[in-house]
Amino acid sequence: MTDAAPKKEQRRKFQAIRGTRDLLPPDTALWNQVEETARSVFASFGFGEIRPPAFESTDLFARAVGGETDIVSKEMYTFAPSPESAPDESADDTISLRPEATASICRAYIEHNMQQLPQPVKLYCMGPMFRRERPQKGRYRQFYQIDAEVLETVRPDAAKDTAKELAKDAVVDAEVIEMVMTIFDRLKLPSVRLEINSIGHAADNCRRRYVEKLRAELLKVKDKLGADSQRRIETSPLRVLDSKLEHEQPIIATLPKIADHLCDECKAQYAAVKRELELRGVFYKENWRLVRGLDYYMRTTFEITAQGLGSQNAVCGGGRYDGLVELLGGPPTKGIGFAIGEDRLILSLQEAGISALATRHSPLVYIAWMCANAYAAAVHAAKDLRAAGIRVELPPVEQKLGKALERADKLGAQYALILGDNEVAEGKWTLKTLADGTQQKLTEPKLLDFLKKL
Ligand code: AMP
Repeated sequence: MTDAAPKKEQRRKFQAIRGTRDLLPPDTALWNQVEETARSVFASFGFGEIRPPAFESTDLFARAVGGETDIVSKEMYTFAPSPESAPDESADDTISLRPEATASICRAYIEHNMQQLPQPVKLYCMGPMFRRERPQKGRYRQFYQIDAEVLETVRPDAAKDTAKELAKDAVVDAEVIEMVMTIFDRLKLPSVRLEINSIGHAADNCRRRYVEKLRAELLKVKDKLGADSQRRIETSPLRVLDSKLEHEQPIIATLPKIADHLCDECKAQYAAVKRELELRGVFYKENWRLVRGLDYYMRTTFEITAQGLGSQNAVCGGGRYDGLVELLGGPPTKGIGFAIGEDRLILSLQEAGISALATRHSPLVYIAWMCANAYAAAVHAAKDLRAAGIRVELPPVEQKLGKALERADKLGAQYALILGDNEVAEGKWTLKTLADGTQQKLTEPKLLDFLKKL
């Protein structure tokens, strides 16, 4: 009996935790292609990369994302301080795995005094985020985001010319949206749809007035709403507009619209964003119900959807969040950014049949070495070809020619480099084109020249 338990435990088959998954080749080639494309577009818009840590003080997310949001109240992976932790300053801090990146980037902006850098500061980051959501297609507990943020500390004299500042903000908003649309365009993501909205300006009270009015209207129809929406009337009435419940749709359609309640400044800024998008040839659709889930957004919000994703079809969400840096203890700073959901982006590309680089890992050349004599030459040839950036497969054991060619074919190689006694004696390799079986004999420099040109 006593022996049985550990044996059973030893036989346990481990699996990835629910809501997490392994990303495997050849899919990872597409992931890399997406990331390379994003990096190249970011560079062309003057963005630099930041790599914040994957966990931070829980308080940072509570303050930045909002304690009332689902993300903070239910979905974070949080660790209490351990009694054994080293007696350092942050030992009593409860920490959480990051559910999103904006809070960390704003924290880093303050911590590294980036307000002293030439403004605005344009940053991007990529990596895993963690939310304890109910897993389904396109929704994971560890998922990946490609995130970009523009931060600009407000100059003391900025208040003197509000119109100029608003016009500048509109240009920044439009350029950020143009940038993310450029990434999707380069990747040939089909049926991309951009929706925009303005949710007003909290400090200017137009949002507060609207939210009060919305709450009053929602209270009148409270009994007809589902439990989630009923709860949100108190906690965050704007989120009711997000509801996907079918029976709530006709009720929501009659609610007051924020566009009718924007103050003059917000109205002017929203109009300018639309003009700037048109100037850049970026197509958009207005959606007055687009409010975004996170508390810190203001004025411009946007969401981008793509095909093939079912109900989880948002591949990117973003918006303006002036004031967040200040809320975290920094100087008055404007901000706008977005997060692309990389998992969903990849799913959508794959659904559209795009897996462009799926064959990139297959070798170009398979080295078929066939006698002990040829082994050293094979090792050196592999080294030289790889140094020239050529993908090479070198089998660890000697193989008969037929077997070697069969394996080369299975791996998807285009050429077999045949090395036997004859080739070693002659100082020339036999290069066989696997598609048509033709062969040529080449010295190593000629071989390199030939393969590099492919
Ligand atoms: P958010 O940070 O909530 O604004 O989300 C930005 C984007 O990240 C969304 O549009 C999704 O594409 C993606 N995303 C958010 N949560 C998840 C999740 N649990 N699994 C996969 N992608 C997600």
